[in-house]
Order: sequence, then structure tokens, then C-alpha cells
Amino acid sequence: MIDTKNPREVAREALMQLSARKLLPTPANYQACYNEIARLPNVAGFPEAQLRQIVMALPVKNPKQKEGVEQLAIAVGKRSWQCVQQALIALATAETPATENGNVAPVPSSESTVPAFLGELLARLTRLIEDLLPALGDQDTWLSEQALELLQALKNQPTDIPGLLVLLTGFSRRVSLAAEEQGEIRQTLLKLLHLIIENIGELTLDEECLQGQIDALVKAVAPPLSLRRLDDVERRLQDVIARQREAKERSLEAQEAMRQMLAAFLDQLSAMNQSSSAFQVSIEASAQQLATVRTIEDLTPLLKQVIDATRAMAEDTGYAHEQLAALQSRALATDAELFRLHQELHQASASARHDPLTDTLNRRGLDEVLAREIAGVRRKEAPLCVSLLDIDNFKTLNDRLGHASGDEALIHLVQVVRQHLRPIDTLARYGGEEFVILMPDTAVAAGIEAMKRLQRELTRNFFLAGNEKILITFSAGVAQLTAEESGEDAIARADQAMYLAKRAGKNRVMGA
Ligand code: GH3
Ligand code: MG
Ligand code: MG
Repeated sequence: MIDTKNPREVAREALMQLSARKLLPTPANYQACYNEIARLPNVAGFPEAQLRQIVMALPVKNPKQKEGVEQLAIAVGKRSWQCVQQALIALATAETPATENGNVAPVPSSESTVPAFLGELLARLTRLIEDLLPALGDQDTWLSEQALELLQALKNQPTDIPGLLVLLTGFSRRVSLAAEEQGEIRQTLLKLLHLIIENIGELTLDEECLQGQIDALVKAVAPPLSLRRLDDVERRLQDVIARQREAKERSLEAQEAMRQMLAAFLDQLSAMNQSSSAFQVSIEASAQQLATVRTIEDLTPLLKQVIDATRAMAEDTGYAHEQLAALQSRALATDAELFRLHQELHQASASARHDPLTDTLNRRGLDEVLAREIAGVRRKEAPLCVSLLDIDNFKTLNDRLGHASGDEALIHLVQVVRQHLRPIDTLARYGGEEFVILMPDTAVAAGIEAMKRLQRELTRNFFLAGNEKILITFSAGVAQLTAEESGEDAIARADQAMYLAKRAGKNRVMGA
């Protein structure tokens, strides 16, 4: 029996039924609803795809045949063997109309199958969906199922365009939900990152010491974010974590040394039986406090307290004065060492201008020199070139030879670069394996030439890892500062050019 409802209505009703019955929107469930509404038998295993291929391959040489083939396509779409049979009979018995001169009337071949432009459109749609899917993650199984179904339909060169539209509408609704969800996930992750960074400050032993880096991190995660910036955030975060670990270890070591010295001090003192009762009380209190000390800040006043009490007692009794003085001076020396350590940690903080590994300027140092150079070249109306270089495949080098060799490779590169730069040029470590070179009085062509010269020098000066000769190469971008440009913008342009150099195959220099 042929249903009289049009396929579009049937498709819409089938979707409503799916939803009303709370059925999973699988192709099989959809088909069952469709057949039920269209009052068609729910034929299992109907070879729709294969039949469609046959329909497409049928010759269409005249309007009658065209009509017959269309009937057959509709019958296949309904998955009804009965309709297929009727359509085939009609097609086989179709009379071939003759034209006036007795020939068979042709129909334009472009109408016989899916028109060419439609085929192209469907192919592009297929590609678009395939490209879109990775961006939406793989957690939404419903979306994945819908996508598969749609891709299958598209690849079969569908003639049932209304059916395809239904699938497409459902899919695009799902995609917009998924895209919204991805956006929310990104926002939430960003908030979490902010929270973590802000809290690192509170967890550090020496908050002030790391405040510079924390501030820089907070700034770096402000939107709009790009992969490049996230990369930078990752590097800074690693830096903060490493410094924090170092600071903590050194503080704990110093604290332990101080604790041991004080304990020895107290032992010596208690051995002296001539002390006054007030002194005894003071020393006992100090010994008790020592057991509960947690930080250097707690330890320092305790040390002073003991030294003062001892001095008073030593003066009073005159006993073991020399011995006490020696201990006292050792304690004072340790106190001075603690102070020095403290200073050193501050040096390592954001206020320092140099990178401790390579002894080149760090970012802060670079910012200052850049500001100075820009003021200089603007006054003189001279050109300034900014180059950003990034070592090629450095990760592989690290992985193969170890991080320590990676460090030495960085030092080697810096040595070679320094030897072949002019004294007025500036070299700064911009990030992990990225360096910025400022070249005053240099236009872009000369800047590019200078970078290429450095590349040649590196091929002459191998890096030695044990006995192995390693060739270090880099990719670089060179930008000449324009009249209104900030130093940061010139570096960004050089960075872009460096990226192009990477993409062009690495070990290259590109002008911005
Ligand atoms: P490409 O040339 O294509 O840019 O690849 P790459 O491997 O050089 O660049 P990528 O950014 O993937 O990796 C850089 C590596 O540099 C990752 C990081 O572990 C390493 N790195 C960063 N700072 C240091 C450092 O101070 N010492 C060492 N040994 N490695 C570092
Ligand atoms: Mg890099
Ligand atoms: Mg690199």
C-alpha cells in the first residue's frame, strides 16, 4: 500500500514520535517510527544504500524513464519492497515516446542524478562536518551518532533532500549546544587557572620573592587567549614552580643548620653550673620554643634572645667566655648566611634582570634595554632591528641527551651568538629556548643577514655532548621597528615571522 502523506510530513511526525516516546534517536528507531506513520512494513535489513546505487546507475534517456526512476527512488526511500516492485514494473513497461522525426526524446543528463553543483555542495558539507568534529570533543555520544548518520547519508549521494534536511537540522542544533558547552569549559578552566595562580602566592614560603612572577602570570592569562600565550603561561608557571622548590629547599636547609647550632649552644650552656636562676629559666624557655620553631622568621628572634641572655650571663660569671664568644660568632655567621640566602632569593625574583642559566638578560632586563634603545633610535632617527630566534627541535635534543645537556646547549648557543654580535647588540632570553636580539642602527635586510651569519657560525661550532657533535639550528624572524610601533609589537611581528620560518621547514630566517 502506498502512503499518501508527503515524506516531509512523515519525517517531522516521526521525529515528534521519537521524542514523545523518549526513544534514543538512532537510525533504527527513527526508521521504525517513520514506517509506522507512513504505514509501511518495518522491513529489517532493507538494503537501502545498495538500491540507491542501482537507482543512480539506471539510464535516463527520456521523460518517461525519468519518471519511473524517480518513482523507484521514492519506493527505496520508503524501504518498501512492494513499492519497489510496483516502480520496477512501471519502469519496465514504460513506453518510449518518439519525437516527431521518430527519435527518442532525450532529457538533459545533468538532471538524471544529483546535479554536479549539489554533489560538490554535499562533498564540502561532508568535509565541514568531519573537520568540525574534533573541535567538539568526543564526550557527547549522541552528537557522534548523529554525525555518523549524517556523514553516511551524505556519502551515499542522497536524493531524499528533505530527509537530509531533517538530519542536518537535528545535527546543527546539537552542534550549537556542544559549541556552547566547549566555550563554558574554556571559561571555567581559565577561572581555575587564575585561582591556582593567585593561590600559589599564598603557598610560597617567601611570598614577596615570587610576587613578580605571580603578577606576570596573572597578566598572561587575561583574555583574549591564544595558543602562543598559553605556551608562555606554561613556561612561566614552570619557572615559578622551580624557583619555589629551590627557595623552599634552601630555606629548610638553613633553618636546620641554625636549629642544630642552637641546640649545641644550649647544651654547652646548660653544662655550666654557675648560671643564675633567671638565666636557667630563659634558656629552658628558649629550648622549648626551639622545638616548635617552623620558619626562619621564628628562629631569628629566638637566636637573639639566647645570644643576649648568654652575653649577660657570660659577663656575669666570666666563665668560658672564649668558648661562648666562639659559639656566638658562629651563630652570628649563620644569621648572616641566612640574610645572604634571603638576598639571593630576592635576586632570583622578578626584580633580577638576568637569566641565571645563560646570564643573558631576562624579559625584565630586555624590556628596560628595549625602552632605552627605542628612545635612542627615535632620537637619532636610526633603524632598530628586533630578531626572535627559537632553537629547532630542542625538545628532541632534551629527550635524547637529557635536560642537563639541553641546558649546556643553551649556554653554547649563547656563547656563539655573543662572540658574533656587535658590542652594541643586545641578547636576551625571551623564554625556554627563545632569544631576542636587538640590533641598533640596523635595517631589516642587514638584520636578516646578521642572523644568517649566526646560523653559519653554529654550523662551524658544534655543540659537544660528551664526544658527540651536535648541530644546533634555529629559526628566526626579524622585524624593523616602525615609526609608531611599540617594542612589544615589533617582537610580536618578529615572532610571527619566526613561526613562518618554522613552517617553511626550520633553520631559516624570515623578515617580518
Ligand atoms: P620547534 O623547533 O619546532 O619549535 O620545536 P622545539 O622542540 O624546539 O620547541 P618546543 O616548544 O616544542 O619545545 C621546547 C622545549 O624546550 C621544551 C622545554 O622542555 C625545553 N626547555 C625550555 N626551557 C629549557 C631549559 O631551560 N633547559 C632545557 N634543557 N630545556 C628547556
Ligand atoms: Mg619555542
Ligand atoms: Mg623550538
